[in-house]
Amino acid sequence: MRVESTRGGSTVSLSEAIATGLAPDGGLYMPPRLSTHVGPWGDSFLTRALTALRPYFVDEVLAPQLEAVVSEAFTFDAPTRWLSDDTGLLELFHGPTAAFKDFGARFLAASLARLRTHETTVLVATSGDTGAAVASAFHRRPGFRVVILYPDGRVAPRQAHQLGAFGDNVTAWRVDGNFDACQRMVKEALSDPALVARHHLTSANSISLGRLLPQMTYYVHAALDAQRRGRGEASFIIPTGNLGNAFACLLAKERGAPIGRVVLATNANRVLADFVATGRYEPRPSVATLANAMDVGAPSNLERLRHRFPEVASAVSADWVDDETIRRTIRTSGEVLCPHTACGVAVLERLRADGDRGPWLVAATAHPAKFDSVVEPLLGRPVPVPPALAELLARPSRAEPLAPRLEALVERL
Ligand SMILES: *Cc1c(COP(=O)(O)O)cnc(C)c1O
Repeated sequence: MRVESTRGGSTVSLSEAIATGLAPDGGLYMPPRLSTHVGPWGDSFLTRALTALRPYFVDEVLAPQLEAVVSEAFTFDAPTRWLSDDTGLLELFHGPTAAFKDFGARFLAASLARLRTHETTVLVATSGDTGAAVASAFHRRPGFRVVILYPDGRVAPRQAHQLGAFGDNVTAWRVDGNFDACQRMVKEALSDPALVARHHLTSANSISLGRLLPQMTYYVHAALDAQRRGRGEASFIIPTGNLGNAFACLLAKERGAPIGRVVLATNANRVLADFVATGRYEPRPSVATLANAMDVGAPSNLERLRHRFPEVASAVSADWVDDETIRRTIRTSGEVLCPHTACGVAVLERLRADGDRGPWLVAATAHPAKFDSVVEPLLGRPVPVPPALAELLARPSRAEPLAPRLEALVERL
């Protein structure tokens, strides 16, 4: 299908949008608005994923390979763990790097492998989880090289270890600056046509449709499973930073999945909660919190949200929690939560305290063992490490320092 940029200046095929990432007019490619799905969705995650995604790929070069892409990418499940009759955790951390980013990164990698014709360098700035998911998805994939930039000292220790643990075709640079500096270097590199042509650069950040679209699949799956329990439409609370995961939930709802409300839960970077409450968008520098993968002051997918849903407050609600609330929630919820998931659970606790009785699912965006340095002291006991994460942590890890300037990056490319 044809996809158009939010700024109206570029229209390309979906496959082209997946291959290039950002639109040349500086906007974000919008998924086409499809009519609501009617008919059976299927039962398994893979069948439902294909049913959700297939219409976007009509007439695309990827269409005949979509089934292969989906089954290559989604080799792990997205189970809902019900904590009570009407509260569930949608566990999105069963992939190789233990965060939901694996779904999008692996779909993107499987797609690009079928679309690219040159040796390609995937450049990615990360605040922690994206880099590892992208590295894992492209690791040892012929024709691809991955270059990761992350802010030195500002990601969790295990996140840092993961980023440097791949080797082979993956290089990790620890940048002397914050995430914004890393992101700026990537943007500058990608907007230099000579540099892009020389290294066949592409990006894998969260504005890529190749990451956004596949994220709708687990919401479709979870909402259908919840409906089968006989309690009607489930609503979702989604720990949010750049708004990619939550936007995908809105797409799932638009496709016809039985989804009620969609609530964004942020950390103390409260720009989205303020925007939904006041209608005024005031981006600001991010502040460091315990939920570091959501330390975002200017959510990159907001342009998409406003484009698709001009009445933003009728499409989503939003709330935010401070670090003290994150700590208290981890200590008292009775579950083992990562700091990001804890933001979602804290927001649900407020809704319940206000008398809300509906069925709710909180997206559990990362495995708590990834954030042991936060979670274990609060719980007073070790958190068991899932096997895939344990395997990465057992490898040696290596990342060289890099100055926060484009010239420094160009020299090393
Ligand atoms: C990336 C990330 C988020 C935020 O997701 P967005 O799509 O950027 O809103 C939340 N939790 C974890 C663990 C993450 O890695």
